[in-house]
Amino acid sequence: MKLFSDFFRQIVPKNTKETLFYYRQSVILADRMLGVYFLLSILLVFWSSKQFFWIPLVIFGVLLFKIFQVNQLTARFNLLLISLIICAWTCWYVICFGWGIGGQHTLIVLVVLVFFCLYEPPAFKIVYFLMILTLRIFLYQYTSVHAPLISVDSFSLFLMQTVNTISAFLMLACCCIVYSSNLQETARQLLLHNEQLQIQAETDPLTKLINRRGFMDVMTRYVSDNPEAMYCVAIADIDFFKRVNDTYGHNCGDHVLQQLAALFTEHSKEGYFVSRWGGEEFCFFFPGVNIDDASRIMTDLLIAVRKMQIEYEDHRFSITITAGVEENDYRSPLADLLESADRKLYRGKANGRNQMVF
Ligand code: GH3
Ligand code: MG
Ligand code: MG
Repeated sequence: MKLFSDFFRQIVPKNTKETLFYYRQSVILADRMLGVYFLLSILLVFWSSKQFFWIPLVIFGVLLFKIFQVNQLTARFNLLLISLIICAWTCWYVICFGWGIGGQHTLIVLVVLVFFCLYEPPAFKIVYFLMILTLRIFLYQYTSVHAPLISVDSFSLFLMQTVNTISAFLMLACCCIVYSSNLQETARQLLLHNEQLQIQAETDPLTKLINRRGFMDVMTRYVSDNPEAMYCVAIADIDFFKRVNDTYGHNCGDHVLQQLAALFTEHSKEGYFVSRWGGEEFCFFFPGVNIDDASRIMTDLLIAVRKMQIEYEDHRFSITITAGVEENDYRSPLADLLESADRKLYRGKANGRNQMVF
């Protein structure tokens, strides 16, 4: 039931001037195959009888017009025209030669085409489907009480039946192939695009480090997957960073952040993950590491930062950072541990900066 309610709740785009690639391809393919099928049938019909012969010629003429004008027609007009062509052809074929010859098979192609069309609302599709069904039932009832207008020999009958059945099934298969391969391609592109969006949403554009949102996800997932695991968190903040901006300019400040991020990434082999937490703050996550090891790693990092010479245009200088480290106490939630690390960081700032507090 949900399948049907979902179908009826679909919202369709309004712009019927633009035909989607896959739909245009299906329509072009259906037109051309219909052209070949009409030509074959006209030859067969001409061979067996010339009665009412002008009808298939007129329908074929309209189809030729459609084939050459397909790019100028809107999706809806394309659908309307192909519907008229197929319905007229089917009526002529079935009324002239009878039900058993299989001229009605082509109607199924119409049903498939209308359900493929993105621009038609669900109600339209259902009404359209019911109209095709009604026509099919009408033709069946009509032929069960009226004899065919044209009688043909059994060999012609066999040939016409074969052409009708093969053509209708081929058209159906080709439209489905075009549609399903395009659908798969669209789904693939969408997945890749979503992946890219996800990466973009979780990456800090300046330092290319994972951002706070992405990092919270990483830490939360680790903690929920490993409830018994030991881990530490640390928050580090650049000392007097405002002065760097004020003295050397904001671009130089950006450069410092990038250099620092590169240094943190290089050292991450020591056993931590690093993120840009915000402004000039970085957050570290040490999965499976106790506070002694985390403090040692952070101390090494502090020394590496102090030693790092930053070169920007004609300027050459170094910076320091202050950090607070906290260990999982198996009682406090992650947010509390981060808050505690932040408090330690500010204690380090108050104690003169350029230090690690644990
Ligand atoms: P403290 O030692 O107390 O941390 O001093 P501070 O100057 O580092 O701290 P404060 O909070 O006063 O200033 C932080 C500065 O970081 C101010 C802000 O302009 C700068 N900042 C934040 N994000 C960026 C950024 O992306 N690029 C640059 N260039 N500067 C940034
Ligand atoms: Mg700072
Ligand atoms: Mg700060």
